[in-house]
Amino acid sequence: MGLEEKLPSGVMLGTVEQVVGLARKSSMWPATFGLACCAIEMMSVGGPHYDLARFGMEKFGATPRQADLMIVAGRVSQKMAPVLRQIYDQMPEPKWVIAMGVCASSGGMFNNYAVVQGVDHVVPVDIYLPGCPPRPEMLLDAVLKLHDKVQNTKLGAHRQREIEEEEQRALRRSLPLVEQGEGAER
Ligand code: SF4
Repeated sequence: MGLEEKLPSGVMLGTVEQVVGLARKSSMWPATFGLACCAIEMMSVGGPHYDLARFGMEKFGATPRQADLMIVAGRVSQKMAPVLRQIYDQMPEPKWVIAMGVCASSGGMFNNYAVVQGVDHVVPVDIYLPGCPPRPEMLLDAVLKLHDKVQNTKLGAHRQREIEEEEQRALRRSLPLVEQGEGAER
């Protein structure tokens, strides 16, 4: 007879990591960061039809200090990049980022000097969501995939990965543009 059979009904066994993962994924608070057309699709998931509240995410915050998920919805101009980074820095740890749409993921059709060629040049990205624009169902799918990722992340691992990505970004910034494959049109 296992220990589970001796427990009263309704009691579950689990590790601290599992409990923390469950709490984190069940109460994410997104920061609104709509930049272009993709933002319309992002806004619709908060409405009653798609009902993001089913996943504990009904509170879209206007302040980054009360948010732990940034959904970058739309293209990021070079002028907006420092603002995005500042907002990200104001979010408390642990925090996650979804790049919504091809523009946020890679610059998309805006392959020019004015648009950041992927928001991962500015902040670490957890989920890349393709599409122009991605449908609300696709954003919900990305959110659920992020929930799985959060549930299975070891305590402290997220922060370590962020430090490594920050080092890679600093290295990328120090390389000449031609070596990064970004200078062809300039
Ligand atoms: S991916 Fe398409 S819909 Fe989204 S911001 Fe870019 S152009 Fe607009």
